[in-house]
Amino acid sequence: MKRILVCGAGGFIGGHLVTRLKNEGYWVRGVDIKPHDFAAPPADEFVLGDLREPELVRGVVREIDEVYQLAADMGGAGYVFTGEHDACVMHNSATINLNVLEFGTRAGVKRFFYSSSACIYPEYNQLDPDNPKCSEDSAYPAAPDSEYGWEKLFSERLYLAYMRNHGVQVRIARFHNIFGPLGTWTGGREKAPAALCRKVAEAPDGGEIEMWGDGKQTRSFLYIDECLEGVRRLMDSGIARPLNIGSEEMMSINHLAETVMEIAGKKLAVRHIPGPLGVRGRNSDNRLIRQELGWAPERPAKEGLAKTYGWIAEQVSVALNRV
Ligand code: NAD
Repeated sequence: MKRILVCGAGGFIGGHLVTRLKNEGYWVRGVDIKPHDFAAPPADEFVLGDLREPELVRGVVREIDEVYQLAADMGGAGYVFTGEHDACVMHNSATINLNVLEFGTRAGVKRFFYSSSACIYPEYNQLDPDNPKCSEDSAYPAAPDSEYGWEKLFSERLYLAYMRNHGVQVRIARFHNIFGPLGTWTGGREKAPAALCRKVAEAPDGGEIEMWGDGKQTRSFLYIDECLEGVRRLMDSGIARPLNIGSEEMMSINHLAETVMEIAGKKLAVRHIPGPLGVRGRNSDNRLIRQELGWAPERPAKEGLAKTYGWIAEQVSVALNRV
């Protein structure tokens, strides 16, 4: 039986991935600097520890066949686009990747999955909200709009360099806005779908929610189940070049908010306020994943938003009852 290490198993995608790998029958060790915030993942072993520490990493990569590296210092626009956390984001995430690759390779790990991001794509291709360009081959000349994106790009190159020089296999996904239950929904690191679900759940019908920017910026959103399907297909494939894992259903943030209100059955006014935004437009380009894996995500975002809203509304009501 393959022995798998999931780094970032106390986080949103890592926690769901542990569950998926266990359901597939693997032996799984999880590691994270904190326990999972909502539901302990069903790992065979869960190590609480800091992946910036070489000694910790040396220990967790022992007797492991494959590593899924999802640990990162990250958050939504309110965390990565204000500029206030740039040094931490770059230092922490790069150190984790340097350690995991170096000590994993030395310990005999055969294959690494690395979670990169759509944030690596150049800002100059994402100025028009209706026509963003995010094909995998458009990553260079590089010009990400955040230090978070620059670190991801550096680490993609690091994984590819280890593959060329040290004979390990690497698989790299560029995720585009993954969302779902059991993800951060409050506290400053939450991303747009979770933040809007929370705001709508908290507002009384006929009330008002705040939104950063004019809401005309576009994105696409991928539900966690299809993200994991893509991750598993990519990991087991022979494809070493980075692939987008995202939805092609591009929508404005205004439309995202309207969809959440529709799901909640509430009519709310939207007050647009200044805030950190990121690029003007972004959408996954799924031509390459379709060509390479013969598969691409296809479920409508609304379906996943309904499940996510249900879970966040429950969290909101539990939190309100506690006060
Ligand atoms: P998350 O924040 O829920 O998970 C990341 C986990 O890494 C957290 O549990 C955190 O505690 C852990 N971590 C951070 N520093 C650590 C350290 N020093 N030692 C050990 N653990 C540490 O985020 P997520 O949404 O699950 O994202 C997982 C990965 O996917 C990240 O690498 C992220 O950059 C990437 N990604 C996510 C999205 C998305 O939309 N969620 C989009 C693009 C890329």
